[in-house]
Amino acid sequence: MGRLDLTEKLAVLADAAKYDASCASSGSESRKSTTRNKGIGSITGSGICHSYAPDGRCISLLKLLLTNHCVYDCLYCVNRLSSNVQRARFTPEEVVDITLDFYKRNLIEGLFLSSGIIQSPNYTMEQIVRVAQTLRETHRFRGYIHLKTIPDADPLLIEKAGLYADRLSINVEVPREASLVKLAPEKNAGSIRRAMGGLRLRLEEATDEKRRSRHAPSFAPAGQSTQMIVGADGETDSDIVRSSVSLYSSYKLKRVYYSAFSPIPGSSQLLPAQKPPLMREHRLYQADWLYRFYDFSIDDILAATDDGMLDLDIDPKLAWALKHRQRFPIDVNRAPREDLLRIPGLGVKSVNKILRIRRWGRLDLSGVARLAGSAKTLSKFIEASDWNPGAILDSPHLTAALKPPPRQLSLF
Ligand code: SF4
Repeated sequence: MGRLDLTEKLAVLADAAKYDASCASSGSESRKSTTRNKGIGSITGSGICHSYAPDGRCISLLKLLLTNHCVYDCLYCVNRLSSNVQRARFTPEEVVDITLDFYKRNLIEGLFLSSGIIQSPNYTMEQIVRVAQTLRETHRFRGYIHLKTIPDADPLLIEKAGLYADRLSINVEVPREASLVKLAPEKNAGSIRRAMGGLRLRLEEATDEKRRSRHAPSFAPAGQSTQMIVGADGETDSDIVRSSVSLYSSYKLKRVYYSAFSPIPGSSQLLPAQKPPLMREHRLYQADWLYRFYDFSIDDILAATDDGMLDLDIDPKLAWALKHRQRFPIDVNRAPREDLLRIPGLGVKSVNKILRIRRWGRLDLSGVARLAGSAKTLSKFIEASDWNPGAILDSPHLTAALKPPPRQLSLF
């Protein structure tokens, strides 16, 4: 196979990075302005994804692997040593050039960089750090940088990465340690946890240093995150939620990302042949949201599951409400914030608006529906100045009425 040019490497290594979850959405339609296909401007579609900055802005990131060569053989990974995929490798300087090129053309606001392991964890980490260091020190790059760190790398390298990156992440890979032993024998759950613990301590130290002196250097100001693969080893949603909650509380993570397992051609028989429904990933993100923003405890979320699995037809908040009908209806004109947050169909913003509005007057059903965008679900669970759901809440048909209607499967 001949040497790949930069655009070909970009296609391979941006595609390989799609399994790294760091985005709320990814990809973009490829459009070109050629003589035949007239138009203004051109985007490659390779590797641009969207992520959320700590201040809530949606930013576009160039998402790349430094290389998809890897000396490890994690069974669930398309880039594993024994995988038969096209390989490519950027030099750190090439990643710097591409990032600057995209950045100057206003296509991206930052870089997300991960890598397969080449030679050793330290060697790989050095290369990753070199990209960030060159961007920041040589080119004064002011964009966002998210670096995936290698857990077994020297802590001094991780320290250095934090001086240049906005966010660092270390993947826990799978929700259960036993699965890691089975599916990624070269990885060690202990060293992953130690690396995350070390990062947490360093982040806390950096916050203290900043408090003492505003001239103290920043260290990964957007904190640390992690990713776990869903559906590779028969784990239940309860296993995943338990693992996430423990990670949030032990390591003060900003985010746990979920990535639905994707079967790989020629993969091990230890892995499922089917990928889990994408809706499962979505429900897990919703459960995660309930934990982080809606004051749901882990027990509340587990109570929304059946046999350890979240309902694919309805969101976890509605599933919880249907199982706790005795807690409803909730009076939108009197209930405290924590109760309003339990109402299916009401988001945090709507709850905040309700709390503001009711200082001046009482809310009726149509007023709440206007704030929420619809009354269909919430009307079953609230009491307003002109409304009480009465016997609706006790109806044995309520769950069926709130589930989406069954759809004929497509034959094609
Ligand atoms: S170390 Fe990372 S890139 Fe290498 S096989 Fe494992 S998951 Fe894939």
